[in-house]
Amino acid sequence: MLRRHLAARGIDDPRVIDAMAVVPRELFAPRSRAHDAYADRPLPIGMGQTISQPYMVAWMAEALELGAGDRVLEVGTGSGYSAAVLSRVCRAVYTVERHAPLAEGARALLRKLGYDRVRVRCSDGSLGWPEHAPYDAIVVAAAGPRIPGTLRDQLGPGGRLVMPVGAVGGSQSLVRERRDPSGGFSREALGVVRFVPLIGEEGWG
Ligand code: SAH
Repeated sequence: MLRRHLAARGIDDPRVIDAMAVVPRELFAPRSRAHDAYADRPLPIGMGQTISQPYMVAWMAEALELGAGDRVLEVGTGSGYSAAVLSRVCRAVYTVERHAPLAEGARALLRKLGYDRVRVRCSDGSLGWPEHAPYDAIVVAAAGPRIPGTLRDQLGPGGRLVMPVGAVGGSQSLVRERRDPSGGFSREALGVVRFVPLIGEEGWG
């Protein structure tokens, strides 16, 4: 996985590669699909949701340009896999999942595996997690119609926000926004992706 799916496609942040090397993806995938855990594809995790393709997790982690002292908000905990990866390249991860069974499963697994720098909450993550804002980086693992203003408001100066934006059912644009010190935002399109929809007040209704 590290060589064929990540390094060969340009993932070169050594801290992201190291994190992907040690987080046991097979424990986050459904038991019946453990043999597929390191394959180049998303896998079903119940509630109609998926654990993202390894390359996507690595690409988004790299795009966040994380420093060791950073605090990160993740929207869309799913299995908890990407939160575990992120927690190995920053100081703290606050992750929000709207489906209670997924949030509870991820919380229990992360605790069991000792990922004590991750906190999981069950709520509408399109509204963020204001109590712990501002964040150095925000990543949204579901596609919305636009970048929610509430998430922008929770990004600190110099912060990066990475999120797929575009219609559901087709492909979307993976967008990175940066908050400059004066408070303005600059935006880049990183590439074309396919994600499950962001369902919520600031997502798809
Ligand atoms: N990062 C996950 C994969 C996420 S799939 C992993 O590594 O396994 C996207 C997740 O976003 C799904 O679990 C879905 O339920 C969740 N989601 C969709 N809309 C949401 C919202 N408004 N708030 C929180 N979670 C949401």
